[in-house]
Amino acid sequence: MPFAEVAVNSTAPHRRAFTYSLPAGLAVAEGQAVYVPFGNRTLQGVVLEVTDEPSYPETRDIIAPMDSRPLLLPQHTVLARWLSDYYLAPLFDCVALMLPPGFRRKPLTLLRPLVSAEEMPSLDLTPRQREVLAQVVGRRQVELEELRKELKLRGLSAAVEELVRRELVERTYELGRPKVKPKLVPHVRLLVKRGEARKQAKELGASARGRRLAAALTALVEEGPLMPVAQLRARSGITSAGLKGLVDRELVALEEVEVERDPLAARSYPSRDPPVLTAAQQAAYGEIAQALERSAAGDGGSPSVFLLHGVTGSGKTEVYLQALEKAVALGKRGIVLVPEISLTPQTVRRFAERFPGRVAVMHSGLSPGEQFDQWRGIRDGRYAVVIGPRSAIFAPQPDLAFIVMDEEHEWTYKQQDPAPRYHARRAAEKLAELTGAVLVLGSATPDLESYYRASSGGYRLLELRERVQPLASGDGRSCVARSLPEVEVVDLRQELKAGNRSIFSRSLAQALAEALAADEQVILFLNRRGAASFVQCRDCGHVPTCSRCAVSLTYHVSEGRLICHHCHRGRRLPDRCPQCDSPRIRFMGIGTEKVEQEAARAFPQARLLRWDRDVTRHRGAHERILARFLAKEADILIGTQMIAKGLDMPSVTLVGVISADVSLNLPDYRSGERTFQLLEQVAGRAGRGPLGGRVIIQTYTPHHWAIQAAARHDYAAFYEHEALLRRRLGYPPFGRLARLIFAHTNPLYAQEQAFRLAKTLRRETDIRGIPHLDILGPAPSFVPKMRGRHRWQIVLRGDDPAELLQEISFPQGWTIDVDPVSLL
Ligand code: ADP
Ligand code: ZN
Ligand code: ZN
Repeated sequence: MPFAEVAVNSTAPHRRAFTYSLPAGLAVAEGQAVYVPFGNRTLQGVVLEVTDEPSYPETRDIIAPMDSRPLLLPQHTVLARWLSDYYLAPLFDCVALMLPPGFRRKPLTLLRPLVSAEEMPSLDLTPRQREVLAQVVGRRQVELEELRKELKLRGLSAAVEELVRRELVERTYELGRPKVKPKLVPHVRLLVKRGEARKQAKELGASARGRRLAAALTALVEEGPLMPVAQLRARSGITSAGLKGLVDRELVALEEVEVERDPLAARSYPSRDPPVLTAAQQAAYGEIAQALERSAAGDGGSPSVFLLHGVTGSGKTEVYLQALEKAVALGKRGIVLVPEISLTPQTVRRFAERFPGRVAVMHSGLSPGEQFDQWRGIRDGRYAVVIGPRSAIFAPQPDLAFIVMDEEHEWTYKQQDPAPRYHARRAAEKLAELTGAVLVLGSATPDLESYYRASSGGYRLLELRERVQPLASGDGRSCVARSLPEVEVVDLRQELKAGNRSIFSRSLAQALAEALAADEQVILFLNRRGAASFVQCRDCGHVPTCSRCAVSLTYHVSEGRLICHHCHRGRRLPDRCPQCDSPRIRFMGIGTEKVEQEAARAFPQARLLRWDRDVTRHRGAHERILARFLAKEADILIGTQMIAKGLDMPSVTLVGVISADVSLNLPDYRSGERTFQLLEQVAGRAGRGPLGGRVIIQTYTPHHWAIQAAARHDYAAFYEHEALLRRRLGYPPFGRLARLIFAHTNPLYAQEQAFRLAKTLRRETDIRGIPHLDILGPAPSFVPKMRGRHRWQIVLRGDDPAELLQEISFPQGWTIDVDPVSLL
């Protein structure tokens, strides 16, 4: 008798699958969705494996399949299990990543009264039971969770239990309604031959009604034989009664036809021919194309992962486009990941131009119906490529042979909440391994870990060292090489000494004036994350840091102290700079509004445009702002991290970084890397057109290596310095991290729990004799309170922290983040 290992959609999270038996006559396939009994409920499940041996002695039967064909591709059943193991995440949450949108239905508990309101007074009940019963009796049925919210009653479960036992209330279990379904549109189908229809139309007579019916038949002959009812109405003016008449005479039939809600349908993209690749592009493309051929021939051997390190504007996207063309020519398909789809309309456009009608997009901005239909269209093999953010790696793309991760260093590739807290790069690598697909990671500023892999042989390194610049005369098909923009680093300490208190240094102010006078565009960049949280000396640039963790200390107003967010050591806020004895040691940080005000004051004639989270809450806002700036409706664009993303804005000649210090001084082991990447990426927005461009970086710490490396566009220098630091402290990629967070409304309880778990972890480490594992903390999180909950964290650093965590059973309230991209 065969058995099935099933991931079950239960309310309590489980990391394991459950074994079910198959009743005689029922066959299920791996990846198929099924109904299974679970406790006294019927729940949704997905079959991950069919076996001959049960992994559990007593099994119950699967109730029925939900759908005739599997929902998950074979590689996805394996990938889901791997994700659950690697990220210590609930199994069904991992499976759900690959299911059609809206699949998950909530298990409901329904209560129905078995007594009437009149009978209630005569019943012997506790006050609590009476209160519950009164709520149920008034209605036909109530959902338990709703009742819980309405009554906010302690001991509700026990009261319900007793009412059910005494048969005063009936309890049943159901699943919530599906949130999305295929969209069905009523259509009319012509049932007779065209000649016959024409003949009938002629005989219908000259009455108004007859003319309408005749027009309907003619429309079906000419544009049919199948047409949406609404369209037929518009063509002929036919009424419902008229249509019914045609149906009764068996000339036409009504049908429900499934239609696809297509998010790109309303847009049209002119199709474009590919340009001729430069020699450098050709070399990179050639290697990828060869790997694609090997993969298509099925002799991929070890998986091919490429790191395409190309400076901003070096034509990486063009390489992806032509490699995808190659994959398609081999009968295969691709997935292209972008950091955030609303910030990358240009990428979508370029793929849509090259592959008209064969691009699917997946993202949360689509309606549930659109998401559902795209999912089904992808599964049916309708698209050459799927473009989307990190979750698009789980798209049901058949014949997958090519995966691109553009701007692979971006942190949005790591899911923060909810579990599984996966990194799309790890998932993509695993998927490439399972399918033999070729994976290309592209960036101007690769993640240090990726570059480390590329230099130690795990990935193949491909490089594009020069910018390309399309020739105006070449119809976009040919180009010349260009250099990267000049970068000037301005020492803000000197500005202060010279009596300049404005947020614009003299250099930046002058460059701004020049650019505006020449009618060119400017970007002012500001990093807002964590602003005002660190302390810096205005005279020497000194920032107090923790000697043990090498991160800057965070100022806590409530305690008037500086605290390390990794190890929790702290000290009093100094009155004077420990380095130069200046009294001007204070908090840093300004916002985009402030920059806007100052810019308006200094350059009253300039037209300003602000781009930050506050002005981009609405759907489509990113695209509108970008379009306005590209159309030169503004002279200065003021923005945060978002504008650093890979946008192509050719008439920008000046980029000003208001302050590089904020990101540099975040208490995180990756703040140096983050700063380098941000500076290099914003700098990459300048000088992409024929006018060239320059970059001005303002900072109190001009000699910091991350700033110096960015100023020279010197990735190698950055890498060497950063890798050395990481190796010394055992940070990734020279060690691995896991971060545990406990959040609770009661601050003392949160602290207590954190200390308790830390003690358990230390004890277990000793007992098991696990070498090379540091347990840092507990300490309050960088964001010590979020949504009313106090947060404490423990950081594990070592060869394999997950090995220890596998074995620990965590009390409720803990979140586990394996390989966190940030400790903030
Ligand atoms: P990246 O992705 O590295 O930032 P892009 O692919 O966006 O670079 O290329 C920058 C610009 O150069 C784009 O406008 C692109 O269309 C153009 N381009 C890239 N390669 C070529 C080429 N071989 N010939 C002509 N134009 C090109
Ligand atoms: Zn100082
Ligand atoms: Zn510390």
